[in-house]
Amino acid sequence: MPLRLPLRLPRPPLLPLPPRRGAPPRPRPGGLRWHHQAAVEVANEPILEFRPGSPERQALQKALNDLKDKTEEIPCVVGGEEVWTADLQYQVSPFKHSHKVAKYCYADKNLLNKAINAALAARKEWDLRPVQDRAQIFFKAADMLSGPRRAEVLAKTMIGQAKTVIQAEIDAAAELIDFFRFNAKYAVELEQEQPLSVPPSTNSMVYRGLEGFVAAVSPFNFTAIGGNLAGAPALMGNVILWKPSDTAVLSSYAVYKILLEAGLPPNVIQFVPAQGPVFGSTVTASEHFCGLNFTGSVPTFKHLWKQVSENLDRYRTFPRLAGECGGKNFHFVHASADVPSVVSGTVRAAFEYGGQKCSACSRLYAPASLWPRIKGLLLEELQKIKVGDPVEDFQTFFSAVIDQKSFGRIQKWIRHAETSPNLSILAGGKCDDTVGYFVQPCIIETQDPRDPIMQEEIFGPVLTVYVYPEKQYQDVLRLIDGTSPYGLTGAVFAQDKAVVEEARRLLRNAAGNFYINDKSTGSVVAQQPFGGSRASGTNDKPGSPHYILRWTSPLAVKETHAPLGGWMYPYMQ
Ligand code: NAD
Repeated sequence: MPLRLPLRLPRPPLLPLPPRRGAPPRPRPGGLRWHHQAAVEVANEPILEFRPGSPERQALQKALNDLKDKTEEIPCVVGGEEVWTADLQYQVSPFKHSHKVAKYCYADKNLLNKAINAALAARKEWDLRPVQDRAQIFFKAADMLSGPRRAEVLAKTMIGQAKTVIQAEIDAAAELIDFFRFNAKYAVELEQEQPLSVPPSTNSMVYRGLEGFVAAVSPFNFTAIGGNLAGAPALMGNVILWKPSDTAVLSSYAVYKILLEAGLPPNVIQFVPAQGPVFGSTVTASEHFCGLNFTGSVPTFKHLWKQVSENLDRYRTFPRLAGECGGKNFHFVHASADVPSVVSGTVRAAFEYGGQKCSACSRLYAPASLWPRIKGLLLEELQKIKVGDPVEDFQTFFSAVIDQKSFGRIQKWIRHAETSPNLSILAGGKCDDTVGYFVQPCIIETQDPRDPIMQEEIFGPVLTVYVYPEKQYQDVLRLIDGTSPYGLTGAVFAQDKAVVEEARRLLRNAAGNFYINDKSTGSVVAQQPFGGSRASGTNDKPGSPHYILRWTSPLAVKETHAPLGGWMYPYMQ
């Protein structure tokens, strides 16, 4: 059901209104604030089911057919113009790498500098646009994604990033629409957050964009994240250079075009696919660089952070650095857990999208008493998992991993398991890249809970289990907390409430998204704002009202409505 949105959003007064006669007295500093609430009602986008014969399935099928064996030509877009450079690149379909889904080009240093200038030229006017106007563009883009453009963006995400229909739906439709709508709502409501005014002065807060340009660098694994990394700062009045991932150019460009069609002025976001290091060193070398909105791996984020610090003396303003990185997410199972929930939750969290979600479960801690049952059921379910072509066969549970590099990395981990005396492969792990980059789901058991396979992110369909003596569960909770440098997501399965409380206390810093009797994946915008700390990132919680604040530089204004009087103080008389 498409959501009905108000055509005109309420425009809150810039300054707090003076209290009316008979109204309660003004609160003192430290007391409650006046709220001129004009809440913007939005709800999470419903997730469609794509049953055979349904209208959404028919529309998707048509969109998939339209892309069959096609190669879309995707330019850089700088200064509102489509630009081609000589550095041609191709994005291939991961499950059929003979299919080039997109031909695009890398922006070079020169073009990136042009993009910076074009963005800066648009900044002042865009920043001065009322937030309601900016929000309206994102509401419109969300409506387009929810309705007429849904099938196109889903099909491009399925073919380009090897997602099954449901994985594409929760990402490129539901999450992206939610990001656009909720951010727009939060932005409009933020304007109503105004400071106290004490007569004879009125105080106000102006939520300005940052002074300069923001670089948005997106990962391959969520179409929604790319749209949000570029979209959220734009909504808040910033201008952006968006470098999409090489393996998600097709869907990213579709999102970019939708934003333009929804009314985003051409120079607010420059669309610049580029070689990562060329992009990173060019943007961080500009004196106007004022923010990085990054999602991806830890080494890339650290590299960019170092480049920023090396250039610190050049900048006109301290840049905001937001980075959401990897995870080594856990499922802890207590002896009181509900076994079927553990099994179905773990199958989904470990293997959906081939384990290529930052929140994917990759370490499972099971008590010895329950392990035989859990193992039996896990292996039984594993037999049912179909790995294949998500377009030709809708029974596919997950498809190929994203590219040759990922395939090679996952294969190395499986070899490590084959050769290490601590590890035994219980099932799966066969790799075949003849047609696409396919890896069968793999379950490994480890005798050593600190083996590197329990510490490092694999980003593939590999789950490692450590079986512990159940009486030592507290030690295991401490072990989970201290095993890996990450702190992204984690889950505790236990019916015993006291154990749940203990786990919450001992694992307080082990995850930024913590689940109790639920799987470690599947956060929903505005319901479970996402992000972790430690090596997992700056934990800015996209999907919450706090996130958009990162992309503003508030200006506090005091205006006094009475003459100031003499300069001497009473005590001086
Ligand atoms: P990646 O680090 O390889 O690439 C991310 C982006 O950085 C890409 O656009 C890439 O081209 C670019 N890049 C690479 N080198 C660069 C450089 N020197 N300067 C500037 N840009 C550069 O990551 P990926 O493989 O695309 O994504 C997977 C990673 O992202 C995993 O670690 C995953 O956990 C993480 N991730 C985290 C979250 C989260 O919210 N925490 C969400 C999704 C993905």
